[in-house]
Amino acid sequence: MSAPHDLPGREEIEAALRGHQADYAELRLETGESTRLIYRGRELEDIGKASSQGGCARALVRGAWGFISFNDLRDLRDKVALAARQASLVGREESRLAPIPAAVDDVPARVVQDPAGVPLAEKKRLLDEYNEIIWATPKVQTSNITYSEGRRQVVFASSGGSYIQQGRLDLSARIAVVARDGSEVQQAGVSIGSHGDYSFIQGLHQEVKGLAQRAVDMLAAPHLTGGEHTLICDPVLAGVFVHEAFGHLSESDFVYENQQMKEIMVLGRRFGGKHLNIVDGAALPNLRGSYKYDDEGTPAQKTYLIREGILVGRLHSRETAAKMGEKPTGNARAINYHFPPIVRMTNTIIEPGEAKLEDMLAGVKDGVYAKNWYGGMTSMEMFTFSAGEAYRIRNGKIAELLRPVVLTGNVFTTMEHIDAIGNDLDVNEGGGCGKGMQMPLPVSNGSPHIRIRQCLIGGKAP
Ligand SMILES: [Zn+2]
Repeated sequence: MSAPHDLPGREEIEAALRGHQADYAELRLETGESTRLIYRGRELEDIGKASSQGGCARALVRGAWGFISFNDLRDLRDKVALAARQASLVGREESRLAPIPAAVDDVPARVVQDPAGVPLAEKKRLLDEYNEIIWATPKVQTSNITYSEGRRQVVFASSGGSYIQQGRLDLSARIAVVARDGSEVQQAGVSIGSHGDYSFIQGLHQEVKGLAQRAVDMLAAPHLTGGEHTLICDPVLAGVFVHEAFGHLSESDFVYENQQMKEIMVLGRRFGGKHLNIVDGAALPNLRGSYKYDDEGTPAQKTYLIREGILVGRLHSRETAAKMGEKPTGNARAINYHFPPIVRMTNTIIEPGEAKLEDMLAGVKDGVYAKNWYGGMTSMEMFTFSAGEAYRIRNGKIAELLRPVVLTGNVFTTMEHIDAIGNDLDVNEGGGCGKGMQMPLPVSNGSPHIRIRQCLIGGKAP
């Protein structure tokens, strides 16, 4: 197997890792190219391509990590030595990493429709069309469109004998509209993405038209009276809920460092009904959070976090797995060579149940149907989310559009109150995940429609 051009060869990389005073050492080298187009209002604010190249060395000595990142790919041996020296200054305990098999592999990028075959001018023309549709809608005050594509080749090599090349083509976009009438302002937006298929951005004309019209319609929509309501969430909102409110609590670095969370996130504890199954895994194919190996060379897996309502697993790096006496799950990820890998989600999914949406609606005399996600925050088990779009449910039917609503609650109580899980799984590949300084990391989240009893819903945005 040959290294991508510009990167040093395998022999040189492996030689650089040998003979250090370290319990473990690794190198991660990367070349990348990105393209982006950003519109603010009618103006194309940024259009262009950039390329990057660099690497990092990480070494473990007596339980402590040394880490350095660099752009100059020469003298790799000195860089590993420096990381080991750094670690040796602080290391005072035993180094513990859960074992993984050494892997030698070459994984090409998944490419379905290659954006490299589409001229930049053609991409601009398409986004111009979407922007024109938005601006043709009366009462639109402004718009924002961001398109980005990133192509990377990463070589990972470790003192444990792994040598893995992986390619990746990640695509994402956000289209947002702000409408205004006097002092009244409303917004609507959509985030989309794809692992390797440019067609994700094509043919959205009708959807963009609907988006702009919805922002305008919300200007005159009635407010919901706040309080406890029966809520049906669409797959996007439910997927973001499971990522933001629950998924981050399953990241073991967080659990391990936090005594209160350790006491809450006890394996074997019941968090929901028998119909509730939640998984995370990069082994789920062809999604934005999919890969074959994580950034420590651990093979991707599919990990049950909740099975039939019971907490059965969590997400690990090699280090958190060893410290908690569990198995690594392939969730150690770094956004690029400037950062060491940390425990991250990949594709986080509420598995489908048996309920049909029409039957879920039929059981609701007066409630709320909320779609999409606009933003929010979490603090331990408490969350506050803004839904992008909300409708009243009356006598089992979706009725009038409402002003946007805010959902508030405790994630565990909310999961207990899920009383129906749909059969219509859909995966949302828009947006990205932030943790520490590393954002936006490509992830996906998915869910069928879900129904939640006694959900606290506020009528005004925070
Ligand atoms: Zn996140």
